[in-house]
Amino acid sequence: MLKNIDVKNLVYDLVIVGAGPAGSTAAYVATKLGLKTLVIDRLQPPREKPCGGGLTPRTWRLLNRLGLEFPTYGGCRVIETRAAGYRFTLEKEPILVTRRPHFDYALFKQSGADFVRDQVLTVKSGVVVGRLGEYGGRIILGADGATSAVAKSIGVYRLDYKSHAMAYMTIAEGPPSDTCVVDIDSVLREVGKPGYAWIFPLDGGANVGVGAGLGRWIDLRNFVRKYAEDAGYRVGQMWGHPISLGHVRSLGRGNVLLAGEAAGLVDATTGEGIYYAIASGAAAAVATYVGLKVYGSERRVLPVYTQLVKPYVEEVKKTRLILQMAKYIAARPAVAKLLGKRLIKLYSSVYTGEATYSLLLKPVSQF
Ligand SMILES: Cc1cc2nc3c(=O)[nH]c(=O)nc-3n(C[C@H](O)[C@H](O)[C@H](O)COP(=O)(O)OP(=O)(O)OC[C@H]3O[C@@H](n4cnc5c(N)ncnc54)[C@H](O)[C@@H]3O)c2cc1C
Repeated sequence: MLKNIDVKNLVYDLVIVGAGPAGSTAAYVATKLGLKTLVIDRLQPPREKPCGGGLTPRTWRLLNRLGLEFPTYGGCRVIETRAAGYRFTLEKEPILVTRRPHFDYALFKQSGADFVRDQVLTVKSGVVVGRLGEYGGRIILGADGATSAVAKSIGVYRLDYKSHAMAYMTIAEGPPSDTCVVDIDSVLREVGKPGYAWIFPLDGGANVGVGAGLGRWIDLRNFVRKYAEDAGYRVGQMWGHPISLGHVRSLGRGNVLLAGEAAGLVDATTGEGIYYAIASGAAAAVATYVGLKVYGSERRVLPVYTQLVKPYVEEVKKTRLILQMAKYIAARPAVAKLLGKRLIKLYSSVYTGEATYSLLLKPVSQF
């Protein structure tokens, strides 16, 4: 159980809004660097966060490098991609599958940062204003996810069907498996949009879900229910949540930084956001340390942070481009068939962490 402390009249080096992977990693790195750190979340951890829970090799490697321990509840060595009428199977380093309530709580507990449960309403004149109180920080980090109140307060908020897709998931009971299924065909056929359904194995069942982007949001709960049942699973509680389509508008303003999904840092084609949340959260903490302790100035923090996360921002922006390409290809079955196997192979190598989108966008002849 976390101790909610009385933080009135305390001024922190870093006040973090959100105890997801971005906020918790930022808190972990910041406290390690000796920064006085407060985390605020509207929900008491451990809390649910709708997510596939898939940790790609680059994600678990990054967690290992940071020295963060994390629980996993399943995984797969085999990935079956269903696209353009093909079933393409790849056997690689495992994708580990976690349960977000426990994963996020584990990361947060390792930070040792102070915690307050409060719903943040806005950030005004450098002060975080919540329902229950106000919190002073030399630097404020918005790590409050897709519906970020912090991003809204600095005027960079956007949440609609152009910036975000909707994704739904359930924890289903069913047969054991060592195969992750990524099914683009079923979503195109049933929903008529680019996206994919997934089955990520867990002990005693699987995380089953779907995300579909570009175009107005639709309720995909029935799709998930039928998809899971057809695959032999018994559906549990259903959760839906917006997910950024790689829409990075800003990394902050003044002494306010944005990290993780609050900054839009999600792969628009795969929906992978945990990796970017952890990477940008860690970068925010390092930038805060450099700005405050090395340069002795709040104003130096945002420029340092911007430099540190630039490669991730560029990568994520490319995923938006690839999503547009996917939409074009998906609408032309003949093109999809022609490029099918080749593209699936390249795409699979990205979500297993073997290649980057920069590589993917090079002419095919260079491979
Ligand atoms: C259905 C679905 C499936 C997904 N599957 C995967 C996957 O398999 N692998 C992967 O890598 N990514 C996946 N993603 C994306 C991933 O879940 C997110 O990108 C990731 O959680 C972002 O982390 P974050 O720390 O930035 O924000 P979040 O995890 O969203 O955490 C934000 C935190 O801020 C808190 N908060 C929000 N508003 C306020 C407020 N006003 N005041 C105080 N606290 C607040 C919330 O309670 C929450 O704890 C999926 C997303 C969805 C929707």
